[in-house]
Amino acid sequence: MTAAPIAALLFDLDDTLLDYSSGVDGSWAGACHACCPQASVDPAALLGELAETRRWFWDDPERHRRERVNMLGAWQHIVEFALERLGCAAPGLAAAVAGDFAARRREGMRLFPDALEVLEHFRRQGVPLALVTNGDAVQQRDKIERHGLGRFFDAILIEGEFGTGKPEEVVYHHALQALGASATTAWMVGDHLEWDVGAPQRLGVRGVWMDREGRGLPSGSVVRPHRIIRALDELIVLER
Ligand SMILES: [Mg+2]
Repeated sequence: MTAAPIAALLFDLDDTLLDYSSGVDGSWAGACHACCPQASVDPAALLGELAETRRWFWDDPERHRRERVNMLGAWQHIVEFALERLGCAAPGLAAAVAGDFAARRREGMRLFPDALEVLEHFRRQGVPLALVTNGDAVQQRDKIERHGLGRFFDAILIEGEFGTGKPEEVVYHHALQALGASATTAWMVGDHLEWDVGAPQRLGVRGVWMDREGRGLPSGSVVRPHRIIRALDELIVLER
């Protein structure tokens, strides 16, 4: 595949620049152990039920789309469902667990170690940069602010603010337009094969799949990324 200069670069946020997922299980455990005793609920029982409920809750694409723009509400709904499945009536517990979980997540989340260096590199090179992220306006803005990411981007597009999320074409059209970039000279980097790679590729954008674990493409994947990377600094080599 021929190398093309990167004239504009679009980034996903969660699990691409920001290590979003690695602290999730520990934060649920911490929240259950902190909040359950005063409600006389067994923390281990709730934690066990939550594992199954979380999978079920997020597996439905329509519910995922609806709930991800209000994450605190979504986490509370998940705990409510889990308590219901356990047959526990514990008024106020779901809100307490969700709030405790949110605080733990916020405190524990970190940028990947290579994120700032790579953003600084492309900033220095004068490459227009956009952040294109799905989800909750408040949560995503808070992450951008807390981790000092705003200064790098010429355009920031958050599903909860824009009203539509990836993989809708309008999201990518809008981001490219904001950068003054044409699709065929832009690259998009993200960990979600369909939203971050397949969708922009259909518009002519080059899609880079972030595969930090090195799992490789799932068998039968219809999406064929232009590049697969395990670390962000591979983008710097790609540019040459
Ligand atoms: Mg992501």
